[in-house]
Amino acid sequence: MGDLRDLYQEVILDHTKSPRNFGRLETPSHRAEGHNPLCGDHLTLTLEIADECVREVLFEGAGCSISTASASLMTQMVKGKTTSEANELFKKFHAVVTSSMDTEIDIAELGKLAALAGVRKFPVRVKCASLAWHTLQAAIRGDQDFVTTE
Ligand code: ZN
Repeated sequence: MGDLRDLYQEVILDHTKSPRNFGRLETPSHRAEGHNPLCGDHLTLTLEIADECVREVLFEGAGCSISTASASLMTQMVKGKTTSEANELFKKFHAVVTSSMDTEIDIAELGKLAALAGVRKFPVRVKCASLAWHTLQAAIRGDQDFVTTE
């Protein structure tokens, strides 16, 4: 599992230091706000979705390194995807972070999502890593309600 741990640290560090797609769209077609009260993570997603395709997605907010890195990674992965592909990615992500420690992670198949498998050890961190994805789901559904991991 050495490779996975290295990947986890490398990806988290990289995305925490320089978050991708950070900001806010002026006139988003979709938006949602998410909050993880356990850790104090808070983020706002603004998206431009047209023809069921995520053309643009930006996030802003403040949170711990895991939530920031996960949001950054999420925006990078779903941009240019259809909303159903984005939902598929969410399912994969969810399966990874809720899998047991002895479940083999296929780095080749999952790419950078595999990096987030590192949070499996820490249930509290799973919420940090999930926040951006839950907020994305709410935004795609057109659910304007405040999303909370609780
Ligand atoms: Zn957090």
